Amino acid sequence: MLHQNLEWFFPHTTEEAVKLISQQGVILHGGGTRILKTSPKSIKGLVDVGKLNMNYIHHSGNKISIGSASTYDEVIRFSARTKKLSMLVKALSEAASTPLRNRITIGGSLKDFPIWSSLYAPLLALNAQIEIADKHDKIISLEEYLETGIIKTKHLIKRIILEDDPQVIGGVKRFVLIRFEYPLFTVAVALRTKQNIISDARIFITGVKGRYKHCKRAEHFLIGKELNDENIQQAKKHFAPKFVSDYKYSAEYKEHAAKVFFTDLLQELKGTVK
Ligand SMILES: Cc1cc2nc3c(=O)[nH]c(=O)nc-3n(C[C@H](O)[C@H](O)[C@H](O)COP(=O)(O)OP(=O)(O)OC[C@H]3O[C@@H](n4cnc5c(N)ncnc54)[C@H](O)[C@@H]3O)c2cc1C
Repeated sequence: MLHQNLEWFFPHTTEEAVKLISQQGVILHGGGTRILKTSPKSIKGLVDVGKLNMNYIHHSGNKISIGSASTYDEVIRFSARTKKLSMLVKALSEAASTPLRNRITIGGSLKDFPIWSSLYAPLLALNAQIEIADKHDKIISLEEYLETGIIKTKHLIKRIILEDDPQVIGGVKRFVLIRFEYPLFTVAVALRTKQNIISDARIFITGVKGRYKHCKRAEHFLIGKELNDENIQQAKKHFAPKFVSDYKYSAEYKEHAAKVFFTDLLQELKGTVK
């Protein structure tokens, strides 16, 4: 249950919001879907992000900026209009339900990082950058945000920045038994290709032991090679994410399923290599 005397704040500047969340028990409120679910009693105040001008998606040159107050649904609608962000949107459009996608924000989802996150695997594969504000504003890679533990500190996420690179092809797959279920894992692959040869690869999976894994061995194997059936089968041997067993599935079963999803994803990408 949330605190009965919970105080709401509606700041107009990010500086004001950062100052407010420096108080104990005061946190940001994006879509509220996680806060409502967990309803921790320790929360004394909620700082709504709605008036901070962070609800936008801008495309300028080869960069796309997604303001952190944008909802999953707004990103999906931007993509339908512009035909951009198709890999990210494939993941987001399968997340939760329509009413939830109307509420879940990019910022709240990045800070929360549930193991069923639809957002992290594609953003990490696309080498997204994140702009955060605490004492100072900074832009870092999303991978660094996780690796350095900044995610665990108190800060405000302002936006995500993605490169719009036509040379990059990518895909994402999530493992669910029924559509409206938390995904057990989400795997995403982004490849840069030139004359049929892979010149760069980024492969990430979430839902694993340690929450996410950057699959560098599989990347190293693929770089410099053609995406053909033989190399796809070989790449599978270099892709070995580790899972934790749960009441439904053993760790081994999940690893096997992840390998199948990974090779299926590469097979799908094979047809689109430039
Ligand atoms: C039934 C159900 C199914 C779901 N299925 C999926 C799914 O398949 N895939 C998926 O990706 N998600 C799914 N979600 C959503 C996910 O579990 C979280 O609830 C959601 O990502 C939280 O986003 P929010 O905007 O509602 O954050 P909030 O609940 O508002 O906040 C979450 C945390 O982020 C902090 N925060 C909020 N905004 C910011 C900001 N701008 N900067 C820094 N910190 C901030 C808050 O202080 C809080 O600690 C599902 C949710 C439900 C209820």
